[in-house]
Amino acid sequence: MLATALGFALGMGSLDVATANHEISQHIKGSYPNVGYQGIAGLGYGGVRFSSDRCKPQEDNFVADFDAQLEGYLGGKPGQYGGAWPNGIRAVRDVASPCVTSSITSSTDFHWDFMTASEWAAAGHSAGYTGHSHSDIALSSWCAARNVSYPCGYHPTRIHINEPKYAAYTKAYKTQFFLHESAHGMGFRDYCGHDSVSNNGVLCVIGDGYLPLDRNMLRWQIYG
Ligand SMILES: [Zn+2]
Ligand SMILES: [Zn+2]
Ligand SMILES: [Zn+2]
Repeated sequence: MLATALGFALGMGSLDVATANHEISQHIKGSYPNVGYQGIAGLGYGGVRFSSDRCKPQEDNFVADFDAQLEGYLGGKPGQYGGAWPNGIRAVRDVASPCVTSSITSSTDFHWDFMTASEWAAAGHSAGYTGHSHSDIALSSWCAARNVSYPCGYHPTRIHINEPKYAAYTKAYKTQFFLHESAHGMGFRDYCGHDSVSNNGVLCVIGDGYLPLDRNMLRWQIYG
């Protein structure tokens, strides 16, 4: 049985490596409302609100790339998302957030939580990593306030960042890092089977953000 399965996998690989390695259950955490954000679930206006305890300059580059990569059909990409999210999916800074430690507000969907070396160690995180995410399922009261049933996605996702390691990155890598970490809140896992925003820079080379296959997965697997 094992030999048969292995032979099949190798045969597929020789025909189409990218397709054979695109294992959806390994690539995403699941589908909304168990993952992702309520602000995207309606398929109309796709907005996610973020805050940061440092408000680093490169966060603005992240927003520019995130918005450009997740543009909808009104942004000049005909057929994008099958007509959903016509203005694309947008990352919007929570202007109520004051850019200091513990600045997360009740309206924040995801939060860049920069940690000093000692905070990172105290949290039990490996010194070899720069970031990872913790997502909470939104409270039933938060869902009720938006007239949607519980569960209704993540609220918030906290993205912990090892600040000394982040600081050593180039500007380009910082943007790639933000894009990759944002994808965990969107519903993706770390995944190295093929090129994707899920490539994490540890087990495989990090990429430039959301690719066409990632956009299709957002529409048809995560929010489908
Ligand atoms: Zn895949
Ligand atoms: Zn953490
Ligand atoms: Zn990751």
